[in-house]
Amino acid sequence: MSNSVNEKVRCLIIGSGPAGYTAAIYASRANLCPVLYEGIQPGGQLTTTTDVENFPGYPDGVTGFDLMSDLKKQATRFDADIRIGIITSVDFDKKPYEITVDGEKVIEADTVIIATGATAKYLGIPDEQKYAGMGVSACATCDGFFYRKKTVAVVGGGDTACEEALYLSSLASLVYMIVRKPYLRASRVMQKRVKETPNINLLFEHNTVGLFGEHGVEGVYLVKRKGEPDEEKVTIAIDGFFLAIGHTPNSRLFSKWIHTDDVGYIKTHPGSPRTNMPGIFAAGDVADPHYRQAVTAAGTGCMAAIEAERYLLENK
Ligand code: NDP
Repeated sequence: MSNSVNEKVRCLIIGSGPAGYTAAIYASRANLCPVLYEGIQPGGQLTTTTDVENFPGYPDGVTGFDLMSDLKKQATRFDADIRIGIITSVDFDKKPYEITVDGEKVIEADTVIIATGATAKYLGIPDEQKYAGMGVSACATCDGFFYRKKTVAVVGGGDTACEEALYLSSLASLVYMIVRKPYLRASRVMQKRVKETPNINLLFEHNTVGLFGEHGVEGVYLVKRKGEPDEEKVTIAIDGFFLAIGHTPNSRLFSKWIHTDDVGYIKTHPGSPRTNMPGIFAAGDVADPHYRQAVTAAGTGCMAAIEAERYLLENK
């Protein structure tokens, strides 16, 4: 049974990270009267980090929470209609596009900006929750600075893990890379860089089983060659534990219509937030396997709103 249409909008923005809010600022200033649905995590991934010190315009840094509140306030100032709600299904065969909110309300939209972000993968061990914001992070660029001259560990053996480890090696005194396989999966060039960095210590065939520490992370429990006859328990002292085992772009809802890569990142036209469907744009981490920064997300959010405005002008 299909629900009836409750509302028609010119521009619907899905997601409330830097990409979504920036799109809302631009779209509302362009008189598109955008409606933005905040989704499962209002404010996006940044609300889970502590201080953000690399977003231009905040010389003293800003908390992730405050930055997102500021962006929301700025969008609201221009009358962007920001709502609590989760998009539960879409039908992009219909034109205008049909979007269902919370399984009930159906909205018709002339343009859609997908800014649903990506979710960092976690190992799934309870200690990750216990030490969240107390030494566990999934973003070296965001939190690495707090570990200057300290010892940290990065989990993962892909390009992201190598990048994070290299970044951290310039700040921390020692970086362990905890890799479950006997080799790195990362590209050759990244592997070479990691291996040539003296303060990166590769721990192959190690699996993380827990963390410990009284007021924050003080160490990690590992098992070497888990399940093998020579299995060995290993404990190392660390101050910070970084996850780099991949991200999951939040694109599944759209994948019937919108082209993605193998991982699920939405494919956009080079240098543009345009997707394979007219009037549907993707901004921020859901379409960005490479940079994944707040400022780049904000940039593509701006681009998506400008594209939406042009599309509406051309398709009156
Ligand atoms: P990948 O999927 O390439 O690598 C994930 C890594 O995490 C693998 O080493 C994997 O181990 C490990 N891993 C996954 N789950 C677990 C787990 N439960 N426990 C322990 N280890 C685990 O993800 P990336 O984010 O590194 O890269 C994603 C894509 O983005 C890739 O195509 C990459 O090339 C690209 N990328 C490119 C960059 C660049 O060009 N500069 C920078 C960053 C990413 P295993 O090998 O055993 O599966």
